[in-house]
Amino acid sequence: MTSRTDNDVDVEVLVIGAGVVGIYALHRAIEAGFTAQTLEAGDGVGGVWYWNRYPAARFDSESYTYGYFFSKELFDEWAWEEEFATQPEIERYLNHVVDKFDLRRHIRTGQRVVSAVWDDDANRWDITTEAGETVRARWVVSATGGLSVPHYPEVEGLADFQGEGHHTGAWPHKPLEFAGKRVAIIGNGPSGAQMLPVISEIAAQVDLYQRTATWTTPLNNAPLTDEKRRWLSDNFERIAAQLTSPANPTGFMHPPAGKFSTEDSAEERQAFYEEIWKAPGFGKLTSNYYDMTTNREANLEFCEFLANKVRSIVADPATAERLIPTDHLFGAKRPPFIHDYYESFNKPNVSLVSLKETPFVRIDATGIETTGGHREYDIIVYATGFDFGTGALTRMGIRGRDGLDLSTDWEDGPSDFAGFAAHRLPNFFFPGGPHGAGGGNYPRYSQDQVDWIADAIVYAREKGFDRFEPTAEHEQAWMDMVAELAPKSIFSAEHSHYYGANVVGKPRKFLLNPGGRGKLHEILSELSASTDFDGALVATREAVNA
Ligand code: NAP
Repeated sequence: MTSRTDNDVDVEVLVIGAGVVGIYALHRAIEAGFTAQTLEAGDGVGGVWYWNRYPAARFDSESYTYGYFFSKELFDEWAWEEEFATQPEIERYLNHVVDKFDLRRHIRTGQRVVSAVWDDDANRWDITTEAGETVRARWVVSATGGLSVPHYPEVEGLADFQGEGHHTGAWPHKPLEFAGKRVAIIGNGPSGAQMLPVISEIAAQVDLYQRTATWTTPLNNAPLTDEKRRWLSDNFERIAAQLTSPANPTGFMHPPAGKFSTEDSAEERQAFYEEIWKAPGFGKLTSNYYDMTTNREANLEFCEFLANKVRSIVADPATAERLIPTDHLFGAKRPPFIHDYYESFNKPNVSLVSLKETPFVRIDATGIETTGGHREYDIIVYATGFDFGTGALTRMGIRGRDGLDLSTDWEDGPSDFAGFAAHRLPNFFFPGGPHGAGGGNYPRYSQDQVDWIADAIVYAREKGFDRFEPTAEHEQAWMDMVAELAPKSIFSAEHSHYYGANVVGKPRKFLLNPGGRGKLHEILSELSASTDFDGALVATREAVNA
């Protein structure tokens, strides 16, 4: 055993990424007295809320449930403008947090990490940036996000387009001029669906290219009144406890229905569905009948209710039918919550292109050719999603213990422990990674993970451990849980990005935590019940300061 000092590292904790999770991880590390630094690829902080600056980008989780809960002062002083805030306000909020807690001096922007190599003798990570700089760190928290690597459609000629072509997840800072322009939006997930109503108000023509119809329902946004803000402030402790409780599977505070569909008559159910249609955001799932996601008959009935809403809103019957999903139940794919989505198709300047009926042929210098013909555009919006869950981690040149190369090790799908660590990746945490979130309010899941990680390394410091690595058995137990519960997850549509199915060649493996927050807390509590975390904590060096 060699004796080392902390001169062996540049920082004790290196955080990669300054998004919602990375900012919190940095705050926890500084607060705990570690030397810490963040490397962020973007030129500003905010993560997804920095990159996804497309027009109309906004929360579909309530603003005050998505933000941080570690400071009542912060909670009180940030007066969210709307129930569901827009991207510019979210970016301002995250910058405010960084400044308020004096984190900016620890964050280096414009620093893309291209390699992370474990030095087993020195018990540290050597992290190298695109510019060739290396930072040596004892602990790494890779808060690189599950939705940070844009996925472009596999269409011939993408690079030939001479107009403006932008992915929603890599949107330019310079505002794009849509007035009077011919615009194609490819993709109708939450990003594409959010853009359509707003862009179609100003553009000359907008064509939405749809491969698969989605169950899109109204967001039901509203301004936040002073009265509501006062209520939020007065109830901070109760709200924080409710949202962060492991017993709250979704991280929302929507009131539960309190009943099963079978308890109501057919007429009562229709009346109830009308109420649900008016519920805010994810309330369509979380306030719906208890058995909505487990009782096929109930879900089919709700789908028929939604289909009739589409038929009643969209004037052209053929367009309405194209907009009604036929391949998945409500909730089986992550549904978008958008104002005026279906209404947009009644505008004279909006049309729907069904890629099922007329697939892509190619993109060329002037526009898009499908088997239905060629259309010219000034702007093409790629709202085609992300290499979900594993995209960032497998592109970062991560080399762990005993020759582990994460990009090849995960070729058949990721294998991890608790969605934030892996065997043979000592001292490397990736909160928000694959099998991390379970569906619902993402920051509530990743905050659980960051809190556990921060507590674990503080504990390790106190007890003289300097290595954390889940054993092969820990990882296998977690993966067995994923395999067992994935078929029961509400996000069961195997052609969704939650199975990696949107990226050609990506293995179809479930990428969420199907056990939810309850299972995460249960497994982590079990692990931390023993002094050395059941063998995951190791002391590799002599206590130099003993
Ligand atoms: P997404 O949900 O993955 O949707 C991508 C869309 O592009 C789908 O309609 C998909 O069609 C289509 N597509 C993908 N590849 C295609 C191809 N080769 N040809 C034609 N169409 C193709 O992506 P997203 O809308 O960016 O949303 C991703 C996630 O970001 C969401 O699940 C959500 O978690 C988050 N998000 C949240 C908000 C918010 O309101 N807070 C807003 C935006 C995004 P198929 O369905 O056929 O695959």
